[in-house]
Amino acid sequence: MKRRDFLADLARLSVLYAGIPNGWRVITYPRLIDDPFTLGVASGDPTDTSAVIWTRLAPKPLDPDGGMTARTAVTWEVAGDEKFTSIVKTGRYTAGPELGYSVHVDVTGLEPGWEYFYRFKLPDVTSPVGRLRTAPVPGALNPRSRLKVAFASCQQFEEGYFTAFDHMAREGADLIAHLGDYIYEYGGVENRVRRYATREVRSIDDYRIRYAQTKGDPSLKAAHAATSWIVTWDDHEVDNNYAGLSGENNMESDEQMRARRAMAYQAWWEHQPVRVPRVRSWADLNITRSFEWGGLASLWVLDTRQYRSNQACDDGNKDVPCGNWDDPSRTMMGDAQERWLFDGLAKSRNHWQVLANQVRIAPFDETPGEGRRFSMDQWSGYPHALERLSRAIADRAPNRTVAITGDIHSNWVNELRARNDRPDAPVVGAEFVGTSITSGGDGRDEATNWTDKTRAENPHCKWQNSRRGYVLCEFSADDCRADYRTVPFVTKPGAPIQTASSWRVVRGRPGIVKI
Ligand code: FE
Ligand code: CA
Repeated sequence: MKRRDFLADLARLSVLYAGIPNGWRVITYPRLIDDPFTLGVASGDPTDTSAVIWTRLAPKPLDPDGGMTARTAVTWEVAGDEKFTSIVKTGRYTAGPELGYSVHVDVTGLEPGWEYFYRFKLPDVTSPVGRLRTAPVPGALNPRSRLKVAFASCQQFEEGYFTAFDHMAREGADLIAHLGDYIYEYGGVENRVRRYATREVRSIDDYRIRYAQTKGDPSLKAAHAATSWIVTWDDHEVDNNYAGLSGENNMESDEQMRARRAMAYQAWWEHQPVRVPRVRSWADLNITRSFEWGGLASLWVLDTRQYRSNQACDDGNKDVPCGNWDDPSRTMMGDAQERWLFDGLAKSRNHWQVLANQVRIAPFDETPGEGRRFSMDQWSGYPHALERLSRAIADRAPNRTVAITGDIHSNWVNELRARNDRPDAPVVGAEFVGTSITSGGDGRDEATNWTDKTRAENPHCKWQNSRRGYVLCEFSADDCRADYRTVPFVTKPGAPIQTASSWRVVRGRPGIVKI
């Protein structure tokens, strides 16, 4: 559009709104010089009758406020077909600066088990089209029931191209789960594949710009448009390895961490298609929630960062016992979340219980023979919390619980046991740990700590691989199949996709079998 028209519009609007206090003005349908839909569209948190649709207006994504200057009303449409010939729902949402000009609409009254398309509109410009899925009727289960979940984590923007998301977008997944490290808070490092626009992120503007830069990636946008997502967070959405109100370096005061958490959590909410309850302070945003996929599966979205005790023994990998590692009062999820999950596992009638989890549950002992050395940041750093979880799975949903996990930038297949101090304890669950999208760079076939000796020490760990990619899990009434999809490189664009390994869990039967 011409600049003259833009100024004319502004003049007309200022006449229209003369006399209304500035902050209350709604500029309905402004004409923007640049495309405001640079961050794409997304949908998420589907139920059987609803889903959230999302966009954020950001004509200049790397500017504070994304280059927006006034409240803007956006029209949204949901249709049964990609060409929008049968629009089933439509409405208007006014985006404002308080929430970063983000748009969240919880679209209700949809049909269960259905596919819809959605888009957003301003007078001169229409957003890309996204596809959303609703869950089947609660309790519904038949021999043809399927749930195909692709899951991902750890997308360090600087370290590579998000090519894996292009492939994920074409998998025909019902749901995409993101298990954390959607952004990294770090300042830019020279000589990497891509360069961050800001220093280490510490202000709301910084976090918004970091999300905007990450979300501008075309492969990530394609995966968001492809189907509905369920998103949780890990540490880097705030600060590396933070725990509750303890920052990475244990230098920040509680008040400083609360302030940082509030900004980070708000920016997370602004950029994700999520439905979470309102809170008094963003610093206390509770994102634990559960979803049902007919009678086939329940998905429990965990938060193992916000409520956990500080890492024992100054974090890192440590010989145990050390310090307060063994203190029974130390927690990973906090009491309320633990009760919610354990009660939920006991009550759910659904065939599969899926834990959308951040850090590795199955302990990995790095010391062959006598002595044990564990990660203090993973569940192994919280042994009593780990035993409580293992017991809950064993008692309440044995051999129908599957954890999907991120964090460690490598692929693992782990059996979960009823207790972790005895190698002969029965297998009661499965953990599929998915590698990173880009974090760690190109990767390699095996990790340095995966040797004949560590293999023998950790018989519950069945397989390991350190390529980049994602995992595809398909649940049926009888079994769950996991395909580890990997790309050979991320430092150049255009990597092909391959299946590095495939595994199966049969419902009601202990163990994970290689296909
Ligand atoms: Fe990570
Ligand atoms: Ca050992």
